[in-house]
Amino acid sequence: MIYLDHNATTRPAPEVVTEMVDALERAWANPSSTHEPGQGARRLLADARTRVARLLGCSGAELVFTSGATEANTTAVLGALALAAERDVARRRWVLSAVEHPGLLALAERLRERGTPVDLIPVDAQGRLDLPAAGRLIGPDVALVSLMGANNETGVLMPVAEVSAMAHAAGARLHVDATQLAGKAVLDFAASGADLMGVSAHKLHGPKGVGALLVRKGLALPGLLAGRQERHRRGGTENIPGIAGFAAACDRTAATLADDLMRMTALRQQLEAGLLAVPGVKLFGQQAARLPNTVCVRFGRLDSEQVLGRLARAGVVASSGAACTAAGTQPSHVLLAMGEDAEAARAGVRFSLGRETTAADIAHTLAAVQRVVVPLLAPEAMAA
Ligand code: PLP
Repeated sequence: MIYLDHNATTRPAPEVVTEMVDALERAWANPSSTHEPGQGARRLLADARTRVARLLGCSGAELVFTSGATEANTTAVLGALALAAERDVARRRWVLSAVEHPGLLALAERLRERGTPVDLIPVDAQGRLDLPAAGRLIGPDVALVSLMGANNETGVLMPVAEVSAMAHAAGARLHVDATQLAGKAVLDFAASGADLMGVSAHKLHGPKGVGALLVRKGLALPGLLAGRQERHRRGGTENIPGIAGFAAACDRTAATLADDLMRMTALRQQLEAGLLAVPGVKLFGQQAARLPNTVCVRFGRLDSEQVLGRLARAGVVASSGAACTAAGTQPSHVLLAMGEDAEAARAGVRFSLGRETTAADIAHTLAAVQRVVVPLLAPEAMAA
C-alpha cells in the first residue's frame, strides 16, 4: 500500500514505539507521587518537556501537554475569551478563518448559539486569507483571532505574522492552530507572533491522543480541566507514555527536518507535474504558498469517493476534505470557501506525502491515476 494521507495521521516512528513501551514498563508511577518511582516518572516528564519545547521554539514553562490539538485549540479559545471578558465585557468577539479545521468551526458554531459574536475571515479562490477582510473584521471588540498555520486540505500557508500584527494592534490575542505545520515546516513559537498555539503529536510520527498547547509567558490562561497538573493549566494524571512518544517524535523530526522538507518538496513537484498533465485536473491553491507535502486536486467533477475507492483498489491511499455522512458526501467547507460549487467541492482529492514517501511511490501513484481514474473522465467533465 502507498500511504499518501499524512495530513490525516502518520505512522509512529520506531523510536517513538520504543520510548513508549519503555515508559509503560518503567515509568508507570504517578508523576505527582513523592516516592522514588513517582519521581522517576516526573523526571521523564521534565525531560520530554524540554525535548518537545526545543522543536516548537518555546520554553518548557510555556508548554502544556494535552490530549491533542482539538483539546489545545478548545482550551486556547475558551480560555482567551474568558480572559478578555474578565477585563472588558465589551471585548467578546472571536474572529477565525472560514477554512479552519472542522473541530474549531464546530466550537465556533456552539459558541455562536450561546451568544458569542463570531466572524469568519474569507479566503480567495486560491485559498489564501483575505487580508483586507481580516483588517475590517478585527476591531476593538475582538478578544481573539484564530488562524491555522497551514490548511489541512489544500496545504495553503496562512499569513500568521500579518494577522498577528493586526490582532495585537486591535488589542486582541492570536491563537494559531499549527497542527499541520509540525514536521512540515520550521516551527518557532517565540518568533511566530502567536499568543497561543496548538500542536498534535500524531501528525509528526508520534502517538495519537497527545499534543501541546503553547501559552505565551505571562498569559494567565484558565485551564479547561481543573486540577493542579501542568502548573494548574491542565488537570489529570499526565499521559506519560504518550508524552514520551511525543518527545521521541520531536527529536526525530528535528534531526531530519531539513532533508525531509527538501525531499518532500521535490516529490510533490513530481506528483503535481504528473497530475497537471491529466486533462481536466484542477490543482487547488496552485498559485499560493503551500506545505511541501500537500497536493489537492479534482479530476474534472468526479466525486472524490469514487476516485478514492478506485485508487485504494490500485494500492494508493489518499483522502478528501469532504465529509461522508449517512446522507452521502458533504462538500468540503474549504473548497466551498474558495468559491467552488457544491459538486466541485465534493470532488477534492488530497494526496499528502510523508518523509517515508519515495519517488517510486509517486511514479506508482501517477500510473494508478492513468489506469483507474483517467478512463472515468468524460470529455464534458474534462472541460469543466
Ligand atoms: N487542527 C488541524 C489543522 C488538523 O489537521 C487536525 C487533525 O486532524 C486537528 C486540528 C485535530 O488534531 P487532534 O487529532 O490531535 O485533535
